[in-house]
Amino acid sequence: INTDGLPPAQEYIDVLRQYFGHNRFRPLQWKIINTIINEKKDQCCVMATGYGKSLCYQFASVYTGRTTVVISPLISLMEDQVMALSVVNIEACFLGSAQRQMGVVRQKLLAGGYRVIYLTPEFARSASDLLVQLEKSVGIDLVAIDEAHCVSQWGHDFRAAYRQLGSLRKLLPKVPFLAVTATATPEVRRDICKSLHMKDAVQWTTSFDRPNLFLSSTMKSGNIGKDLQSQMARGANQFDGPTIIYCPTKKATEDVAKVLELLDVSCAIYHAGLSIERRTNAHRQFIEDKIQVIVATVAFGMGIDKPDVRRIIHYGAPKDTESYYQEIGRAGRDGAPSVCHAFYSPADFSVNRFLLKDIKSEQFRQHKMDMLSKMEQYLSTTRCRRRAILEYLEDKEVNDVGGTDNCCDNCARRLKLAKQGSRSGLDQLDKMGETIDYSKEAKDLLTAVASLDGNFGINMSILFLRGSMNQKMPRYLTSHENFGCGKYRAEKWWKAFGRVMLSEKYLKDQPIPRSFGSTVDLSAKGRNWLNSSRSGKNPELKLVPNQEM
Ligand code: ADP
Repeated sequence: INTDGLPPAQEYIDVLRQYFGHNRFRPLQWKIINTIINEKKDQCCVMATGYGKSLCYQFASVYTGRTTVVISPLISLMEDQVMALSVVNIEACFLGSAQRQMGVVRQKLLAGGYRVIYLTPEFARSASDLLVQLEKSVGIDLVAIDEAHCVSQWGHDFRAAYRQLGSLRKLLPKVPFLAVTATATPEVRRDICKSLHMKDAVQWTTSFDRPNLFLSSTMKSGNIGKDLQSQMARGANQFDGPTIIYCPTKKATEDVAKVLELLDVSCAIYHAGLSIERRTNAHRQFIEDKIQVIVATVAFGMGIDKPDVRRIIHYGAPKDTESYYQEIGRAGRDGAPSVCHAFYSPADFSVNRFLLKDIKSEQFRQHKMDMLSKMEQYLSTTRCRRRAILEYLEDKEVNDVGGTDNCCDNCARRLKLAKQGSRSGLDQLDKMGETIDYSKEAKDLLTAVASLDGNFGINMSILFLRGSMNQKMPRYLTSHENFGCGKYRAEKWWKAFGRVMLSEKYLKDQPIPRSFGSTVDLSAKGRNWLNSSRSGKNPELKLVPNQEM
């Protein structure tokens, strides 16, 4: 029978009330649970943080009396869930390689003593015999794979052990699998289903939209104190509530913490180089509001469950859009307005690009480079940031986000300019987020890059455009007919334009081994465009200018 679309029968609601203490399922929760219990199909689900994914995978076996297997990357998180389940009298356990009394646990498991068992992906592989036995004896309702984006190389947190889980799918052919994550682009979702050998997986996604988050971004000023104060309540040297400051390196967390101490803001540091005790302590102080700020690397991540984080600041460019979305997802879980601000400098991207250059597979390296460029575009965009993130995650144009006036700095600025109604204001307004024809500038820049034969970084092309007699400038170029043809734009403008042309793939960069630098050359797209421009066809080249242009 097709039970799709039917409301849950009373016996489901009874179990929901008795064990989980809720009166009704959220709509997607019931669809997922119904698909597990009654249709036994594979599912791939992207569910916004806070929607309640744990119920989706915990419920089935509590209802049927069989067992569910949950695979998750973080032991502390699994231990928390086991504890929470035992409080409501649901038998659950975490099975790991360091298991004490494995014999006893195993016996209880195969006698049907556990409703939910939690495993790391590493352990799931080595325990495949046990799982096959469990299926034969008690029966497995579901294998749930939490944080499923870790399966995919195209995602932001790939883990090799996750990739191997596909073999489990083959060992348990009749058991439905559920892959869940809070962030995955359509490409990553396809890869998850394929890698896990899922069969026609049912796809679900809740909206990625977080309307209570205000998004903004500015360049670093070079003065940490001044930058941070711009995020504090005016006149009071305090943030307006619990705040997480993410930094790209351990060293940077220390620099930022020092400045906060000078400003008398209570804070603690959190990064992987600190002892477990110090980390736990910092986490606890933050949860209990003993300190206002935690200054952390991305090691402070999964499993943070503080509903009232009011502000997330990135001091240094985030790695990519998916990571950024996940990091800012920790703000405003209680639904109250919260702010997510990113400080960046173009140099942050050189460092991030440098870190990617050792990746062997060219295709994979290029993919990571693209992810970086997308983040770069986000930070400097003059478009609506909320829409930019949604379009990235949904991989399609998004037009129907309601109530966007106060969702980001760009929309707020647009609203302010429109209200002022002044001429210069309206001119500025026209430029914001709209495409402009830059064919003249593009022709000049691409010509400059082409004249340097791909031997130099973008800055040399800009010196060429500006007619600079820099020492490194090859002499023969100074008599090139285009030498100095870009004086009509400032150096800073050209640099910003160069970054846009890179992220729009008219240019491509190639990292220089053992250095932070990269050389730049025309891509096939850039070459085609330039040829067509030179042949007198005068093609347009329309781009959205970024903040610095
Ligand atoms: P996440 O999707 O972020 O993992 P959780 O599973 O931790 O979310 O659930 C988030 C919160 O929502 C929890 O406090 C949980 O008790 C609550 N919750 C989940 N399902 C329901 C429901 N059907 N009705 C009411 N509250 C629910």
